[in-house]
Amino acid sequence: MSSARRPLKSLGQNFLVDRNVIDKIIRVADIGPDDAVLEIGPGRGALTSQIAERAGRLVLIEFDHALAAWHREMFKDNQRVSVIDADVLKVDLETVLPLSAGKWKVVANLPYNISTEVLFRLIKVHDRLSSMTLMLQKEVGDRLAAAPDCSDYGVTTVLLGLWFDIHREFIVPPGCFHPCPKVDSAIMTFSALAAPRAVVGNEDIFRNVIKSAFSMRRKTLANCLKSAECTINTDLAELLAACDIDGRRRGETLSLEEFARLSRWLSERSKQ
Ligand code: SAM
Repeated sequence: MSSARRPLKSLGQNFLVDRNVIDKIIRVADIGPDDAVLEIGPGRGALTSQIAERAGRLVLIEFDHALAAWHREMFKDNQRVSVIDADVLKVDLETVLPLSAGKWKVVANLPYNISTEVLFRLIKVHDRLSSMTLMLQKEVGDRLAAAPDCSDYGVTTVLLGLWFDIHREFIVPPGCFHPCPKVDSAIMTFSALAAPRAVVGNEDIFRNVIKSAFSMRRKTLANCLKSAECTINTDLAELLAACDIDGRRRGETLSLEEFARLSRWLSERSKQ
């Protein structure tokens, strides 16, 4: 790809230029002819041609129209590759990732400014995914692998932890990109579990319990849950006693299993 045009900061364009890192990511992503792969933000194609060589099917979503057009031209004779010229935050991922193709692998060097939003969107289609290999800001990756009651533990940690084994593969220093970002990055892998780590009942309720519990980090769990949508018409004391959880604790001290217990109880109640 011609590098005549300067990378766009607004689109988080820090392109990978280190050949060793590129090859390592491809190895970690473990793509074969039976795999359907989604690459978000292929950019100048640092990873794309190697993915295309290996995958049975590849969908690219790129928001930079010039780069999307370049990929379309490049792969015009390759029926296994399709290009979507769009904002990944706006596309309907259920349409992009049809179940008929089997489980999908996602590979992306994500633009840092939207990485958390992209993660939330991917969590919603977790049932269509077998793995994700994502370049994230190192700090964001640390948060995803954090344990309860540490400052990094948050909504995405719990939600992703329910469906995936999360692992930091390696750190990628700023010099591996053009232009260089200010911070370290990390390649994180997410391997879909055969079954969720805990039974949560209704997933919308589970998401609401977690978002509420982390909404005011200095407040007690009981205070956070008081104003939550999932606890409307619920006797909080009864809920907390039934789940054997002290409402004076802060939300961020709860384990995934404890969140699941709250969610299961509320899900059962919502059916009555
Ligand atoms: N994959 C390439 C690489 O590793 O060199 C590029 C990675 S660069 C960090 C992020 C890419 O995501 C850019 O190509 C950028 O144009 C694209 N991008 C930014 N925002 C996007 C969005 N909302 N939807 C889809 N692609 C986006």
